[in-house]
Amino acid sequence: MYYDEAADAVQKALNTSETGLSSGEAENRLQKYGKNELEEEEKTSVVKLFLSQFKSFLILILMAAALISAFLGELIDASVILFTVILAGVLGFVQEYRAEESIKLLKSLTSPEALVVRNGKETKVPSSLLVPGDILVLQAGDRIPADARLLETISLKIDESSLTGESVPVEKNTKIFPPETPQPDRKNMAYTGTSVTYGRGKAVVTATGMSTAFGKLAGLIGEIERERTPLQEKLDQFGRWLGTATLVVVAFVAMIGILQGFDPFEMFLWGVALAVAAIPEALPAVVTVGLALGVRRMVKRHALVRKLPSVETLGSTNIICTDKTGTLTQNKMTVEKLYVNGTLLSVTGRGYEPVGDFFKEGQSVPEDVHLHKLLVTGTLCNDAGLAQEDGIWNMMGDPTEGALVVAAAKAGIWKIALEKKHRRIGEVPFSSERKMMTTLNTSEGRLYAYSKGAPEVILASCTKIFHGGQEEELTPEMKQKILDTVHELANQTLRVMGFAYRQVTENILPEEAEREMVFAGLMGMRDLPREEVKVAIATCKSAGIRTVMITGDHRTTAFAIAREIGIYREGDIVLTGVELDALENKEFEDIVEKVSVYARVYPEHKLKVVEALKKKGYVVAMTGDGVNDAPALKAADMGIAMGITGTEVSKEASSMILTDDNFASIVSAVEEGRNILKNIKNFIAYGLTCHIGVVLIVLVGVLAWQILPVIAVQILWINLITDGLPPMALSLEAPNRGLMEQKPRKSKEGLVSRRMLIASLGLGSLIAIQSLGVLYWALKEGVSLPKIQTLIFTLIVISLMFNAFNWRSDRYSVFSLGIFTNRSLIYAVLSTVLLQLAAIYVPIMQTAFRTVPLSLSDWGMIIPLASTTLIAMEITKYLERKTPR
Ligand code: ATP
Repeated sequence: MYYDEAADAVQKALNTSETGLSSGEAENRLQKYGKNELEEEEKTSVVKLFLSQFKSFLILILMAAALISAFLGELIDASVILFTVILAGVLGFVQEYRAEESIKLLKSLTSPEALVVRNGKETKVPSSLLVPGDILVLQAGDRIPADARLLETISLKIDESSLTGESVPVEKNTKIFPPETPQPDRKNMAYTGTSVTYGRGKAVVTATGMSTAFGKLAGLIGEIERERTPLQEKLDQFGRWLGTATLVVVAFVAMIGILQGFDPFEMFLWGVALAVAAIPEALPAVVTVGLALGVRRMVKRHALVRKLPSVETLGSTNIICTDKTGTLTQNKMTVEKLYVNGTLLSVTGRGYEPVGDFFKEGQSVPEDVHLHKLLVTGTLCNDAGLAQEDGIWNMMGDPTEGALVVAAAKAGIWKIALEKKHRRIGEVPFSSERKMMTTLNTSEGRLYAYSKGAPEVILASCTKIFHGGQEEELTPEMKQKILDTVHELANQTLRVMGFAYRQVTENILPEEAEREMVFAGLMGMRDLPREEVKVAIATCKSAGIRTVMITGDHRTTAFAIAREIGIYREGDIVLTGVELDALENKEFEDIVEKVSVYARVYPEHKLKVVEALKKKGYVVAMTGDGVNDAPALKAADMGIAMGITGTEVSKEASSMILTDDNFASIVSAVEEGRNILKNIKNFIAYGLTCHIGVVLIVLVGVLAWQILPVIAVQILWINLITDGLPPMALSLEAPNRGLMEQKPRKSKEGLVSRRMLIASLGLGSLIAIQSLGVLYWALKEGVSLPKIQTLIFTLIVISLMFNAFNWRSDRYSVFSLGIFTNRSLIYAVLSTVLLQLAAIYVPIMQTAFRTVPLSLSDWGMIIPLASTTLIAMEITKYLERKTPR
């Protein structure tokens, strides 16, 4: 119930108060009520994950082959096949488990948070830890994390469409409603899953988890679906196609083999092995691991990817539209200039320490009523706080507002003391649409409205100006002078805000106070660009990515900063929201590619920009933090939300979250995205080389010499060790140079480029030609069949190990990358070589794989031959680098 009782009574019933619960009490209640989570679908258990590895078609064929072998008394073959099946299962399991773990980690990192009062202090806690009785602090952009009874509302509006389907936000209040009120009309309640679109408020949690209205309605809601990336889809298709083709070829050759007099059972096993060798069944798992591991690396570089497919999008992003404040700049504001009574003043001091002096043309400014009025207006119409802790001054709240509090304190005006004298009784909160904020304060029986906001918006509400110690009419000339000053300050990259006040006679609604106001002055604050941003923008340029600034700030400020950090270049267009509105869609599309700065825009303009750019074929990344940025974030190919200042709603709408709000992290993420794709392509190409080589050797051997150059179990072994460790190691290859000097990948590009396909075909053929050469030579020399097979078996494995180094990069020489820079690959190759040595020197393995020990002179032939794969690719890479494009 709760909606039919007074707020106090509800708090009493829930045994809580304004100061919130204590940590201990919250812990107790968490034990009692459980986590604030909706029940998820049953989790995939480890056992299930392991067993699911044995469901693949190929594994089933292999098991059948093992059974048939055992049935025919070929126990050795049966055990070798079983062993490979189990090993393949374990490898697959390990890979998938790691991928699952990475995804779980991401989920825990991106889980929502809520602002609550605990132990009398406002603190952020994970929403899952909320309990009944917690006091929630709500602000625009918040997702309501639990059902709650409102205790305080200031213009609070909540979008309840997720619950009721009604798209117009509901204005909330704290009145008491009769018990028969239907749920949508209980305006003093806030429900889980809905979101705050405007204003702020406080509420006490009444129900959590499955006891909430949403929990009851939804019953079971599924986990976020694991989306497959386009690359994975393509790989699946490719795998299916290759599978069918292989089965046809293998069946055909096996038939010929049997007709030529080969043992039918041997041919059957051989066919199975060849099918296994030809079908890259392990690749999808390795690709998932590649994506998941890359995502982990991105976390370290401050980018949380919310969905795996986004990694691919990142790799093909070719335009980044970014906010200015906080993303390109540090969001540490300091007021530097003030304009009062027709003159410009400056104030010294940096950061949040309230120490500094006011100067006019180099002279210290004495007490001044105009300056006082301006600073008082900025302090009262303000939600930020300033406090000293252990000798360090900390600012709580919006840095823009914090700067105003600090500036006033430098003149001895302290917010806490001032607010005691001028109690706030009403307000219209700031929003990016209105670009202003107003409060209503009472002092000694008199009522005042105080406003601050974008200078032109403030000027539009003013008819008077505080000038020469009195309120005068604001003439067009004065207005022009103020606008000129705004322009002058903005040109110095300062963020400029206007201030106004008005005495009101009766208790009117705060909105109504925003007219016939008295202009009090301007303040210009400095927000330095982040140091790493200039380099990041230059990197974007060399990587073929355009950067566009979209800001709510003044045109001149935006332009000046854009030019300073390299976003604006000669010939670009700067467009304001108003100019954008005046353009027809078609006209806008014609110039959209030239615009590098959008200023004074509203959140809905962002959507228009995204749509126009997408129409032009761009893959668009767009940043956002506010509640109204959500549609643009969703529409963009890559929506990027801010981890620190971003609202929950914007985070939910995004594909990636920046944990440090920093533009440079987007660029790092793009680099990682490109690297992941590069690695995936490389190990696909590596795999292709292996498969092509083995298939060619066996086919030609059977058709030309009626000989099996390698037997079934050897093929299985080759397949297992080549598909196992080296691809995993290749997926760990670090971003190498040149990655951010190439153009973005086309989003429709295939699995592997034609270049890489030709290279894999060439290398595969090279391995095949050498092995067949050895076969030809050995047959002529009269070498025994087991020895021939051992030679070829080993030659293939060692060639593939050299080949693994080839695919660390399709462009650069391994020697220039540093042979030992990918340690995992060194370990992978060493373990594979050790396993191969075991296969030919350990007696029991010799029986299993029908091998004979090789002599030193055999190795003297194998190693040089095998190394030609590396040499050939190095020469190709060298020639390619030398050839001008
Ligand atoms: P971004 O570059 O990320 O879009 P922004 O701060 O420039 O950020 P908004 O937050 O939409 O964009 O602000 C637009 C304008 O509104 C600012 O230029 C400023 O003049 C004004 N403004 C910003 N914050 C406040 C505030 N707290 N109260 C009143 N006015 C504000």
